[in-house]
Amino acid sequence: MSLSIVSKHPIGKRPPKAPVPVNQDDAHALGRWWDGLATDAEKDRVLLLLDRLHAFSSWLACGCTGESVNPPLLAVTRRTGADGIGLSLRRLMDRAAHSADCRFAFEQRERHGVRHEASEGVGEASRPDFLFQPATGLGASNESESTRNSADEHTNRSHPLARRMFWLLNEAGVNTWPRPYDGSDRDALLRLAKEVELAHGLFLRDVLYCHPLAWRQGWMGAGFRKCMTHGLKPQVWWLCEIEHASQKTGVVRLAGAKEDTVIAGKLSVFGGDDSAVRYPMLMCAVVGKLPDDSVQVLQAYAHPIQALDWWLPVDSNLERDAVDDLLEVIRKLARERVELQMLKPLFAWNETGARPDFVVTRRAEPSDSLVVETMGSDDLEYRERKARTVERLRKYPLFEDERARDPAGARAKLRNAVDHWAHGGR
Ligand SMILES: [Zn+2]
Repeated sequence: MSLSIVSKHPIGKRPPKAPVPVNQDDAHALGRWWDGLATDAEKDRVLLLLDRLHAFSSWLACGCTGESVNPPLLAVTRRTGADGIGLSLRRLMDRAAHSADCRFAFEQRERHGVRHEASEGVGEASRPDFLFQPATGLGASNESESTRNSADEHTNRSHPLARRMFWLLNEAGVNTWPRPYDGSDRDALLRLAKEVELAHGLFLRDVLYCHPLAWRQGWMGAGFRKCMTHGLKPQVWWLCEIEHASQKTGVVRLAGAKEDTVIAGKLSVFGGDDSAVRYPMLMCAVVGKLPDDSVQVLQAYAHPIQALDWWLPVDSNLERDAVDDLLEVIRKLARERVELQMLKPLFAWNETGARPDFVVTRRAEPSDSLVVETMGSDDLEYRERKARTVERLRKYPLFEDERARDPAGARAKLRNAVDHWAHGGR
C-alpha cells in the first residue's frame, strides 16, 4: 500500500502542490493502527502523522487503485468515542473508492476493552489543532481547553503542545550533541521554521516567537495579522524559557523576569506542581486573539530542559546529570580521536519502536550505537516499563545507569561503560 500526503483541493482540480510519499515506517504503523493492531510506539507514530496532516491541511492519498489523478482520499477528523474525543481518519466518500482489497475500503477496526497507556495518547490528540484553524468558530477557541486535567508523566508527554514542541526540537536537532548547527537553539528553531509552510505563503516563522519578551513587548500582533490575512484563526506559538511555573495558580516566571506572568488558559507542567524542582523549563504556549480583541495565552505546556542555553528536553534532574557525564566522557574520547555523538530520542528510535533515554553513536559508523537507560526510580511500575523498553532494545549494547540507587558511583560507572564500549569492548 503506498500512501502520499496531498494538499486539500476541490474535486476535479489537481492539488496545489505535488504529493509527498508517506515514509514506509509511518505507512506501516498507520496500517497496523487501522487494523487495530498497533503497538504503543506505532500509535505514537500515527498520532504524529495525523497531527501533521491536520496542522498542514492535508489529506492522505491511497495508491491502491493505481490512479494518481483521482486517488481515494482519507481525511483527518475529530471524533467522539467512549474514550473522549480523538483524532481519526475518515474516507472521503465523495472521491474515488478504494480497491476492494484495500484495508481502507473497510471501517477502521478498534480493539475494545483494552485500554493502553498509549490509547490515552490517542485521546490526547483530540485537540492538536486548536492552532491554525480556519477562522470559523472563532468564539469557541477558548472553551474546554481549560478543563483538561493532566498531571502524570504519560499524559504530559502526549500533550498536544508537548508533541509539537518536541517535534520542532527534534527537527532542529536540539536533542543531539555535538549540536548540528552554529549559534543558539533559538536561532536553529527559527531557521527551521522558515522551512515549515503552514498555509500557502504562511510559514511557521511568521507566527513563532522564541523569546520571553515576545509577550510583554506585544510582538504577537504581527503574527495575528499574518494569520488573519490567510483566513486563519489569529494564533501564534510562543516558546520561551521559564524559571518557575505553577499549574494550580496558572503563573510562570519567565527567565530573567522579576515578576510572574499569568497564563489565562490551562497551564500543564511536566510532572505536575509537586514534582521535584526541575527548572529551567521550556514553555510552549499558544497565544490567541479573541473576537473581543483581547490577547490571551490559550494553553501552555512546560517541560524541563538541560540548561537555559540548551533546549534539550529532560525528564528529571538525574537525566541532567547523566547528560553532563556523557558529554564529559565524549569530550575525553574526542581528545583520543574517538568521535562520538549523543542523541536523546524524543520519539520512537528507529525500528525498535522504543524511546531510549540516550543513544551514543560512533560518528564514523552510525549503526554502531550504545544505548544508555537512566534508571530514575525504584518504583515497581517504572521498572516494569523500563524492562519493556530494554527488551525492545536487546539488539543493541545497553548500559543501565543506576543513578537513583547509586548516586555516588553512577558517574564513574557511566563514564567507564562508554569508554569501554568506545574502545571496542562490549
Ligand atoms: Zn486504498
